[in-house]
Amino acid sequence: MAAVGFDVGNLTCYIGVARAGGIETIANEYSDRCTPTFVSLNERNRCIGVSARNQCITNYKNTVSCFKRLTGRRFKDPQVQHEINAYRVPFKVIEGLGGDAFIEVEYMKQIHQFRPEQIMAMILTKLKETSQVALHTKVVDVVVSVPVFFTDVERRAMLNACQVAGLNCLKLMNDTTAVALAYGIYKQDLPAETEKPRNVIFVDAGYSSIQVCAVSFNKGKLKVNSVAFDANLGGRDFDQVLVDYFVEEFLTKFKLDVQTNLKAYIRLTQECEKLKKLISTNSNKIPLNIECFMDDKDVNGMMDRITFEELSASLLKRVEKLFVQIKEQSKLTPDEIYSVEIIGGSSRIPALKDLVTKVFGKEPSTTLNADEAIARGCALQSAILCPTFRVRDFSITECQPYPITLSWGAEIGNEDSMEVFPLFHAIPMSKMLTFYRKEGFTLEVQYRDPQNVPIPNPHIGTFTIKNITPQANGESSKVKVKVRVNNHGIFTVQSASMLEKQEEKEEAMETDQNNKEEKQELVSDDSSTNQKADGANQTEGKMETDQPEGQSTSEQTAETQKSEEKSQNMEDNKGEKENDDKKDKKKKKKNGVKSIDLPIESIVPQLEQQKIHDLLEKENKMIMQDKLEKEKNDAKNSVEEYVYDMREKLYGIYELFCKEEERDKFSKLLGDTENWLYGEGDDQGKQVYLDKLAELKKCGQMISDRCSEFERRPQAFDELGSAL
Ligand code: ATP
Ligand code: MG
Repeated sequence: MAAVGFDVGNLTCYIGVARAGGIETIANEYSDRCTPTFVSLNERNRCIGVSARNQCITNYKNTVSCFKRLTGRRFKDPQVQHEINAYRVPFKVIEGLGGDAFIEVEYMKQIHQFRPEQIMAMILTKLKETSQVALHTKVVDVVVSVPVFFTDVERRAMLNACQVAGLNCLKLMNDTTAVALAYGIYKQDLPAETEKPRNVIFVDAGYSSIQVCAVSFNKGKLKVNSVAFDANLGGRDFDQVLVDYFVEEFLTKFKLDVQTNLKAYIRLTQECEKLKKLISTNSNKIPLNIECFMDDKDVNGMMDRITFEELSASLLKRVEKLFVQIKEQSKLTPDEIYSVEIIGGSSRIPALKDLVTKVFGKEPSTTLNADEAIARGCALQSAILCPTFRVRDFSITECQPYPITLSWGAEIGNEDSMEVFPLFHAIPMSKMLTFYRKEGFTLEVQYRDPQNVPIPNPHIGTFTIKNITPQANGESSKVKVKVRVNNHGIFTVQSASMLEKQEEKEEAMETDQNNKEEKQELVSDDSSTNQKADGANQTEGKMETDQPEGQSTSEQTAETQKSEEKSQNMEDNKGEKENDDKKDKKKKKKNGVKSIDLPIESIVPQLEQQKIHDLLEKENKMIMQDKLEKEKNDAKNSVEEYVYDMREKLYGIYELFCKEEERDKFSKLLGDTENWLYGEGDDQGKQVYLDKLAELKKCGQMISDRCSEFERRPQAFDELGSAL
């Protein structure tokens, strides 16, 4: 029994696994726990992870990285353009179907256009395979991390990528929340529920972004109170200042224009990253030497920490601004902050650590594993969500990074809107809204502050509530709409129902019922409960209940909490499509109130089921092709290995066991096979290699049999002796 979590970063991926024995991070086929987020498309197969990263110079046009920043985005999206231009993306990004960003590469000797979701699915396939090999079992259910700033469209794209990889994503978990869970779950000394919480700031400084959050902990629970981020500031920007510096220096010193040579530019970027890491541990002058850099010329340079920090001054200012922002948002004094936990590769930059001390008045704490904490947190979350897994109870409340507003055309024709999920509102969370309508109507949902959202279009989705009819007396019907920011952090309209107005007496019963529901379901005392919408009709969009979901109340047992979370989670995973399929006008009668379920048409930017199915098939075909190619290469390698092994033994331990003539004949056969492998036999079908190996073994086996028979003989005499 194992629960699995994936941290898919823009540069590195880690796999966390929770088992009965504890939590661990597992290694890939190179015995490395870090799998680079690279996919390289080749003539005959795909390389994913370490082998792909090794091709990022030799096969740069077809080696894809940083695709997570393109998922769910349009080609014209400023971020996509920024990726292409500012970071000199070496592969081709094009405007594809419907204006979406696609990646164009050569694969299997043909030009292919892949959606970023497909490339993401490829890396997920790799992580899935790596975990399956390590765990000796099929892996389907996973928790996958995403940056806290991911918008709905990006989250949906990530879920689609999981589906294409044949994975069931139990939860998209925010990076920093995963870290908070990894921090909190094993802490024995968290304050009791009734005591003041322990406040911890978490910083995740990665490759392309920095995220920070303020979390409060009590025994058995954590709550993310606020988040801040810079979605466009990470380790690669620090590499970039070094690259810019040396590009200029090499132009004057060596008369080499690196900008004109993409391969050299990629190489310089790699060298600058190495240099940056050395600067983190060493404050002395550090040399940069690259042989045969351009035009067969060697280049060299020098860098020290002070110069690096001067060059990075504007980046460091932005980091400081972020720290100040979370400090102000959390309204915590230095005394109230228990610790500032830093993780992510870039948290090793000394200047960044100094900024923690400067802003929070505390040395940063590095007790968590900087690279693996997110994956471990995801694995723990996966274990918590799995009803059969026994793990310490821990309730997690995330917070909504962007305020969400809902607008609707009021019946009389004027637009009306309200903020349903304010900034930093606790999630997952459902809210019940009430409308009075005679016919179907549409809810438009969007992020309130477009300028603060890192996507150009703040629109989240359009949800049409259908099949509403006036009451028998011609008056508007009461319609209840349940909206939710779900477990993945995605907005959904979960259900809608029409309450048929009954007699006066029955109306009172209906109210009673509502109150009863509120009592049962109201766990938080959110101030926005019963908030009224502005506008002509004051009752429109009234929020009636406010239900944080998937959280434990003090009465709940661990088991019920788990099964509730699991079932709510399954609901979340079903998506809106299910809502559409819900039976029209399914009638329920509660205490004399007739409630009719209404169909909801959800139009949200995500791949259609049929499309996902097609992409899944394509992915499976590619997996099959990779498998065939691997088997072929394995067969070829076994021929090669046999040739070398036998040749060595023929003139070694087998020398006594074959006549000269036989040895010469076999030796020639081995030589011929070797030549064949480098010529005609370089690229043959798997069976050809298996046949070749069988042919060689026919000769070799006789010799090796003689040898092993000889080795067994004294043993046989010994055995005979002791038997007599
Ligand atoms: P993201 O979170 O942005 O998606 P990621 O999770 O893949 O990216 P990490 O693995 O957390 O990123 O961090 C990678 C970054 O950390 C790289 O830019 C790398 O250069 C940087 N890094 C790693 N070690 C050091 C070090 N010792 N000093 C400075 N930077 C480092
Ligand atoms: Mg990361």
